[in-house]
This record gives sequence, structure tokens and C-alpha cells, in this order.
Amino acid sequence: MFENLSERLDRSFKLLKGEGKITEINVAETLKDVRKALLDADVNYKVAKQFTDTVKEKALGQNVLTSIKPSQLMVKIVHDELASLMGGTAAEIDLKGSPSIILMSGLQGSGKTTFTGKLANMLKTKKGKSPLLVACDVYRPAAIEQLKVLGEQIGVPVYAELESKSPVEIALNAIKEAKNKGNDLVIVDTAGRLAIDEQMMQEITAIKNAIQPNETLFVVDAMTGQDAVNTAKEFNERLDFNGVVLTKLDGDTRGGAALSIRSVVDKPIKFVGTGEKMDALDVFHPDRMADRILGMGDIVSLVERAQEQYNEEEAKRLQKRIAKNQFDFNDFLTQIQQIKKMGNLKELASMIPGVGKALKNIDIDDNAFKSIEAIIFSMTPEERVNPGVLNGSRRQRIATGSGTSIQEVNKLVKQFEETRKMMKMLTAAKPGARKLPSFR
Ligand code: GDP
Repeated sequence: MFENLSERLDRSFKLLKGEGKITEINVAETLKDVRKALLDADVNYKVAKQFTDTVKEKALGQNVLTSIKPSQLMVKIVHDELASLMGGTAAEIDLKGSPSIILMSGLQGSGKTTFTGKLANMLKTKKGKSPLLVACDVYRPAAIEQLKVLGEQIGVPVYAELESKSPVEIALNAIKEAKNKGNDLVIVDTAGRLAIDEQMMQEITAIKNAIQPNETLFVVDAMTGQDAVNTAKEFNERLDFNGVVLTKLDGDTRGGAALSIRSVVDKPIKFVGTGEKMDALDVFHPDRMADRILGMGDIVSLVERAQEQYNEEEAKRLQKRIAKNQFDFNDFLTQIQQIKKMGNLKELASMIPGVGKALKNIDIDDNAFKSIEAIIFSMTPEERVNPGVLNGSRRQRIATGSGTSIQEVNKLVKQFEETRKMMKMLTAAKPGARKLPSFR
């Protein structure tokens, strides 16, 4: 995410590396470079100019602090300004009322339907909500079907009326249905078009007026850069939406939309989509995003994801098994599955400070665990619990069964033994070191 921008900004700061103090001249030079980096990342021209003007003013104003190196001072100021450009603090979503109602808007293909599913999933699992999804696209039966499939995946009901041609009626009926069935959250997915069009605008405005949602969210594809910003502007003029959802941030987006939208439409980015799966959704935190843009990593989000997967019981069970040297291939498999649940590997690694840049040209195969899993799945229950029995012929059988080679099987068994030894050493070291690293 935003790799080019991160690299370019890093280079701009290097211009200040050898300098003893901040001066008009070296600041101007650095900021010229920063502005170019922002423009190349497709940041709105006015936004980029205003950004560098503010940074310049702050940098020159803080010159008295001679104990801080100019390059560090500049990184700090740019960081804080980036965060403030994106809205400062994370914006809340209004879930008052019963049911609370959320209306989706955006162009076709922006990721509206996918986000509808993701949001329902997030609010159901994290806030204990009982959502009802509403399919209001009366033009594309496939869109209704898509929402139904997503609803089934996340175990959330979907309201649709195949014979009705009135999205307003469908939405109103859905709210009645939610009240009857006790759903405390209604998320209304609407029809989009490939480009802004008057009929679409009238339709969504009519739905909004009729259902009076707590939140109207505008969903936009981050990959479309400045177009995303222009579309946001038009939707906002008509709908006065409450917040923006930026999707496809997992792709090769340059960052322009994320950095410009807030200051152009004056509405916060509330969520970002980072993949096609139902759990690939993050609440947007401007400060953490600024950290990531500047290659400072995002340890807070990483720890949060780990916490979500952390299971106290499981950790205790594992700790006991390690202490007794009983850690086996079944435990190994469980651990791999937990890591996989945390998300895309390259994205996870890039949240570690300093690692993102190093990974830029390295391809981390998200299927890295696949052959390991296949090998373990090809073992008999006895072999998984007692790897000591793995002789040559058993290893050959496992390699054939898992579609790997005997070398790969040997490597995994060796790695497993080493991990086991290391874990045993860690837990046996000192009384204070007896605990597994805890996230709480
Ligand atoms: P809609 O027409 O606005 O409802 O858009 P869809 O929800 O159908 O999404 C269009 C395409 O974008 C689908 O193929 C989705 O799987 C994909 N998509 C949606 N959100 C994301 C995301 O955050 N990341 C990625 N990589 N793809 C996404």
C-alpha cells in the first residue's frame, strides 16, 4: 500500500540528513520534493500545495528546538500533518436507534455490496448486532444474488423483493421486517451505475429521504485516484453523506484518494477495504495510516489483529503442552491457521516498522503455508503426535500424498523439531519467562 509514496518521502527527508539546522533554503528544497511525491501519488493539486505550505510554516516555526535533527523534525511534522489531512482521529459510526439504519451509496463496481457484507460481519461479531441486509438494486438480479451469497457466508439474513421495482418501498418494507423480526441494524445496499447519472442520484436521494438513515456511507474504489475524489464531491453535494469507505486499498493504489478526499469533501474516511474476503475490513485510523505511509509500520493494528485471534484457553493449553514437550504437528497446524486468519502475509509483515520498505520487491506468497498444511494433512494421526516415527518410507509416502518432495518434508520435520526445542528452552529458561508472549 502506498509503497511509492513512502519511498519518495523517505528520499525527500534524506535531503535534510547532513544539515545541522532547518533553514528557509533546505526546507524549501525538501518540500519541493515532498510536493512532487504527493502529486505523483495522485494527490489533489490544491491539497498538496496547502499541505507543504503548512509543513513549511511549522518547520520554520520550530527551529528553536536545536536538539532535534532537521530530518527527524521534518518526519515528525509531515507525519502529524498527514494524519491531520486524513482527519486526525478515527471517526465513529452512529448506531443509535433500533433498528439503526445504514445506507450505502457509490458507483457500480466500487465495492458497495462487498462492503455491505463486511460491515454486517464486523458489527455482528464485534458489537453483537443482529443485522438485516437489504438488496435495493432493482435493475440487476445478479446484484441481489451476490448479496444473498454474502449474507449466507456470514450468517446474516437478506431482504429482497424480486417483483418490486421501487427501491424506496423495498427499503421501507425491510425496516418493517427488521422491527418484526428483532433485527437491530438494517444495512441498505443500493444500485450503482458505471458513472454519475441523474436517475441514480434521484433514486438514492429518494431512498435517503424516505428511510432517514443514521449513516449514509459513500463507497469508493481507492484505485481510481482523483476520479474517486471527484465522484465523492458529486455524491456529497447531492447526498450530504456522513463518511467515506475506501475499498481496494490492498491493491496497487498510489494513495491520492486516501490523502485528498477528507479535505476536498470535508467528510471522514470511516472504513478501508483491504481484500475480497468478508473479514478484510479495517476501521480507518488517520494516525496509523500516516505511520504506514512514512514506513513507520503499524504495530497497533497488528497487535489488534493478533488480539482478535488470541484465545486465552488455547494459549494456556499450548503453554502446558510445550512445557511437557508435547507440542506436536496438530498444534503446529492450529498455529498456522490462526496466523492465516490474521490476513494477507505481505500486508501483515508490512505493518512491522521498517519491514514494509524492505519487502517492496519481494513477493510473499500467500500460499506459503499451503504445502506445509498439505504435508501435515498427509500424516497419519500417529505421525502428527509422534514425529519420531517418521522414517524414510513414511516421509516418501507423505511427500507423494501431499504433492511435495521428500526434501520439503525433511525440511518441515527439521524446522518443527527446532521450533519445539526452542519453545522448550524458552519456557524452561527462567520462572519469569515461563509465560508465552501475551497480548493483554
Ligand atoms: P458494487 O458494484 O459496488 O456492489 O461492487 P462489488 O461489491 O460487487 O465489488 C466489485 C469487485 O471488487 C468485486 O470483485 C469485489 O470482490 C471487489 N472488491 C470489493 N472490495 C474489495 C477490496 O477491498 N479489495 C479487493 N481487492 N477487491 C475488492
